[in-house]
Amino acid sequence: MIIQLKQGISEKEKSALIDEVNGIGYKITEVKTQLGDYLIGIGKADFDIRRIGKKAGIADIHIVSDEYKLVSKKWKVKPTSIDLGDGIFVKDGDMAIMAGPCSIESEDQIRKVINHLKENDIKLMRGGVFKPRSSPYAFRGLGLDGLKLWYELAQEAGIKIVTEVMQVSQIEEMYPYVDIYQVGARNTQNFNLLDELGKVDKAVMIKRGISGTIEELLQSAEYVFSGGNEKLILCERGIRTYEKASRNTLDLNAVPILKAKSHLPVVVDPSHGIGIRAYVPQMALAGVMSGADGIIYEAHEVPDKAYSDGQQTLDFAQSSLLADQIRKTFALRKTFELL
Ligand code: PEP
Ligand code: MN
Repeated sequence: MIIQLKQGISEKEKSALIDEVNGIGYKITEVKTQLGDYLIGIGKADFDIRRIGKKAGIADIHIVSDEYKLVSKKWKVKPTSIDLGDGIFVKDGDMAIMAGPCSIESEDQIRKVINHLKENDIKLMRGGVFKPRSSPYAFRGLGLDGLKLWYELAQEAGIKIVTEVMQVSQIEEMYPYVDIYQVGARNTQNFNLLDELGKVDKAVMIKRGISGTIEELLQSAEYVFSGGNEKLILCERGIRTYEKASRNTLDLNAVPILKAKSHLPVVVDPSHGIGIRAYVPQMALAGVMSGADGIIYEAHEVPDKAYSDGQQTLDFAQSSLLADQIRKTFALRKTFELL
């Protein structure tokens, strides 16, 4: 159960309410976010909802029996819109394009990517400064200094930054320089990281775990929301299956399912999803048609020289073409009324 509390609820009203809910046999967790105060009740007992609904201080009460609650559409039908400032949003009914290299490599590279994004009116730049690599000997990113430099150049260009946070200790040092914290597929169930990102007042994009289910992704998002941060984006980036012909299996089934189950925006990552440069555009456009609210893909001036993931990275000409095709496909989708 989710109980939305009225803004001015007194401590006395709140404790009377908690006592009543405990009395029915439900355990209460209090949640305070940027946008509201909630009581989450966990229990199984049947009860007459009027017993609680009439109490003082309640704005609304909803029965949500799913494992995840606050990220569920069952209580919040209106889609969540992520406002990044300067008129830049990730939201339902819109198409956010996030593009950039797998890894941030140098000042020269950042400048080139930013120019490319500006030419194509792309407002969100992706890139990793802390890189999770399968091998400890691979390039592991420029770290905080790289992020600071990137931020300075992106600011000047009016471009927002999407970048991966790998551990709790990085959250605070990255904070001034990040617009969207990305939780990578290897960290989807790093619950300490998710808890701490709940305390931050900046957007968080959670990627689906490498072998994570849709429900597990939603539960990971629930960690951040129940920690206090409602600014959440979900990302389908492919899962590991028995198929070896592609790097991962981009599960586009997840998009309409996530959109139906949750009020959060959903972004598709075709680069990691298929892992083969030549097929990234097709899967990006399929992602648009599947109902995604955004596409994130890897782009680099010379993909074959990229420090990581070059095999799935588009060059600037391919990226320009794709950005245009994403917009055209999205315009077409809007004529269909998908969901
Ligand atoms: C990335 O975005 O470069 C990345 C490492 O993604 P994922 O966590 O989905 O593998
Ligand atoms: Mn990558």
